[in-house]
Amino acid sequence: MKRALVTGISGQDGHYLTRLLLSKGYTVFGTVQSPASIVRFKRAFSEEQAQSLHVECVSLSDSSNVMRIVKDSEPHEIYNLAAQSFVSLSFNNPEYTADINALGTLRLLEAMRILGLKDTRFYQAGSSEVFGKATETPQTEATPFNPCSPYAVSKQFAFWTVKNYRDSYQTFACNGILYNHESPLRGEHFVTKKITRSLVRIQQGIEQQFMLGNLDARRDWGHAQDYVYAQWLMLQQDIPDDFVIATGKQRSIREFVFAAAAVLGMDIVWEGHGMDEKGIDTRSGKCIIAVDPQLFRPSEVTGIVGDSRKARDVLGWTPRISFEDMIQEMIEFDLENANMCQER
Ligand code: GDP
Repeated sequence: MKRALVTGISGQDGHYLTRLLLSKGYTVFGTVQSPASIVRFKRAFSEEQAQSLHVECVSLSDSSNVMRIVKDSEPHEIYNLAAQSFVSLSFNNPEYTADINALGTLRLLEAMRILGLKDTRFYQAGSSEVFGKATETPQTEATPFNPCSPYAVSKQFAFWTVKNYRDSYQTFACNGILYNHESPLRGEHFVTKKITRSLVRIQQGIEQQFMLGNLDARRDWGHAQDYVYAQWLMLQQDIPDDFVIATGKQRSIREFVFAAAAVLGMDIVWEGHGMDEKGIDTRSGKCIIAVDPQLFRPSEVTGIVGDSRKARDVLGWTPRISFEDMIQEMIEFDLENANMCQER
């Protein structure tokens, strides 16, 4: 029976990956940051599933604890999903971001090396943010990095560390260069979840208006369930390698708002320009979206859209859940949650 260690298991990807691994008969060891996350995370699984699930608090900033969990779990596969994952937060917390995302990855790889776990396979959750102000569009595995946030710089360090361990010690280590991926379980700080949740709350009369930053920002958004499958596939290959995982389609924040509103039967028109731009609900005539300059980032990625041809050819991977179906699922989940809150 296979054992997997998943760091940052209580996040969005951790949930989907755990489901996948349990369905394949793995015993799953997971790390989280706080005891409260253990309780919340375990609630999402049945009692039977929980028997194959072992979750504990381990910070990637603590080398000895990292070493211990790797030793105790003796994993066949490690999925390093733990990260300070908010790009905007990384501008105010660059040192913490580097400690967890960059040095945390190094600590795990060092633990594997020192413990002599030569057969353990390692997946690193890399990010399209490393392309930053992209030098070519779409990006492939050969596109030069041009990071433009402390978060992206930390992920670039992790990327090269993985490559270095592969070259120096023949570690089976892979980088997934994943583009944005969303789901009903996406954290509320991310723009997609903020939009679906806020629109639902406005429709239900719980909220009147919400603020957004750069409406012109564009992302290549896929579904987390598809993307964790790619993570698993990478570790099932004969040769470790790096892969871009993306849908190949780029959309703006405005387009996301439009699509999410359509699921709720709402129609939004945009009026004004720049900081004065407003999203008006045509039915009520009310302004439900305004721009907040504080939500803009000091530096923003541009031209980010991925070319996943290599993943398709080598892994046989393609995204299966469409943009529209993903938004539908997110809205349905948020509606259910809003209803539950109102009933309480
Ligand atoms: P990221 O790609 O990991 O940074 O994912 P986010 O969902 O946090 O941000 C995606 C894009 O949405 C970025 O370019 C942001 O500048 C833009 N954006 C616009 N308004 C907001 C907002 O209110 N919150 C967040 N998080 N992002 C916003």
